[in-house]
Amino acid sequence: MNISTDKAITINYTLKDDEGNTIDESKDSSFIYLHGHNNIIPGLENALNDKCKGDTFELVLKPEDAYGEYNPAITQVIKRDAFGDEKIEVGMQFHAQGDDDQPVMITISEINGDDITIDGNPPLAGVTLNYAVEVMDVREATEEELSHGHIHAHGESCGDSH
Ligand code: ZN
Repeated sequence: MNISTDKAITINYTLKDDEGNTIDESKDSSFIYLHGHNNIIPGLENALNDKCKGDTFELVLKPEDAYGEYNPAITQVIKRDAFGDEKIEVGMQFHAQGDDDQPVMITISEINGDDITIDGNPPLAGVTLNYAVEVMDVREATEEELSHGHIHAHGESCGDSH
């Protein structure tokens, strides 16, 4: 069975940056997703099209094909007071309202005394993604999975009523 839209795909993968640091990996538990529903990054989903169980491949996604170039203009230094009594640390993320009223993910990238640098770039902006992928399984998705647009691993329901 080849990978196509509406199939449930199980993969093992490792994701490294250009320095060879592991950014993400499926580890022991394989990663399962519903193909063709934007549940994974588009460049990886495209590369998986038509692959079948047992296939292995490597994939390099440049920033422009992944999370975009790093944009220094969307960092900002704000005062510690803006966070009130909240405990903050580097790497913390929170949602804020973007220019176009879309929610954007903001990351605290630096804490320098009272000066807090916040960064609106996706954490992997400017990073070249180096994937090594093995297709572990390809199966038909269930009707419930298709109606939800995601996979219910091990037959569990996600509890969504939609
Ligand atoms: Zn669900």
